[in-house]
Amino acid sequence: MDRWSKRTRAVQAGIRRSRFGEMSEAIFLTQGFAYGSAEEAEARFLEAGPDEFIYARYGNPTTAMFESRMAAIEGTEDAFATASGMAAVSGALLGVVRAGDRVVAARALFGSCLYVLEEVLPRFGVETVFVDGTDMDQWAEAVTPGTRAVFFETVSNPTLEVVDIAAVAGIAREAGALVLADNVFATPVFSRAAELGADVVIYSTTKHVDGQGRALGGVVLGSRAFVRRTLEPFMKHTGGAMSPFTAWLMLKGLETMDLRVRAQAETALTLARALEERGVRVLYPGLPSHPQHALALAQTGSGGTVLSFDLGSRERAFAFLNALRIVTISNNLGDAKSIATHPATTTHQRLPQDQKDRLGIGPGLVRLSCGLEAPEDLLADVTEALDGLP
Ligand SMILES: *Cc1c(COP(=O)(O)O)cnc(C)c1O
Repeated sequence: MDRWSKRTRAVQAGIRRSRFGEMSEAIFLTQGFAYGSAEEAEARFLEAGPDEFIYARYGNPTTAMFESRMAAIEGTEDAFATASGMAAVSGALLGVVRAGDRVVAARALFGSCLYVLEEVLPRFGVETVFVDGTDMDQWAEAVTPGTRAVFFETVSNPTLEVVDIAAVAGIAREAGALVLADNVFATPVFSRAAELGADVVIYSTTKHVDGQGRALGGVVLGSRAFVRRTLEPFMKHTGGAMSPFTAWLMLKGLETMDLRVRAQAETALTLARALEERGVRVLYPGLPSHPQHALALAQTGSGGTVLSFDLGSRERAFAFLNALRIVTISNNLGDAKSIATHPATTTHQRLPQDQKDRLGIGPGLVRLSCGLEAPEDLLADVTEALDGLP
């Protein structure tokens, strides 16, 4: 498998066929597993072998296939699949910290990640400190010796700031801190997060892995010791496991992920260029105008499938959204269907104004997740909506 590309791994890795030799991965829609004897049950509770399962909250054959395939794609030793992206983020953080610990995080985060770091962790005596994720001096100052963990989105939502994974990992390593990277916007297709020094890589698989808007899911990837000794005990007793049916949907999603994500990223670059040519201020790591363009290309080789742009005011942003005919107003991303979002009034509504200002989430900001429709149709849809603006 070492010779296989990510694209091959995404289709083939982790398959474990039953005695029927089924081609499509089997869905083991079962909560539990029967033991042949009381002795066997005792032995399995003591230590379960690779083909031995106890209870679906701990693990399940379909879920295990998904975990193996994700680990193979990301290049980590192991993975734990979760019920949602937020179960992955909160599980990874809560599984690691204890009262008195310090966690340093980038300020530009998905709203729910911010809630966990700002509201939940401090409730249990964990100190959380926020920095500008692109400013290495701020990381170096905040990550004091003994800091337990650092957390950041490798590309932030919705302002698409790119964090230098290797540089932050270097600072964290010196302080003895674990590096947790929420890598949704980079996508598993373009990710090099583990290779660049992230100890733990986290995805909401709701996004590009399913990629078809069907199910919530998440995954935490890392070393076998981290996944099985630190994370699994926490996850299996707190109940955030992925359902076997979801794992099957995600396995099917992975088969087409490489093709989908590359096509979506190409469309995003086309739209970003077209908008910029019309004088719109566009935030897209794939454009030379992006402040971390070189870093984005070195880190992932792509600008990704999502772009954001500023239409100047809430009135113009709303008029634009309401004029779109193909692109749908919703708040998922990475979906086969193109989706436009107004972060200031939806995903980031909860944030106080000064925080929105600091994060660059202005009233005119629109986030566009490019889907799989024909790029020329999307371009026409976006251009016509812009033409009609006041
Ligand atoms: C969507 C998202 C999450 C949360 O994932 P869910 O599957 O919706 O729980 C976390 N982080 C980022 C960056 C996301 O985009």
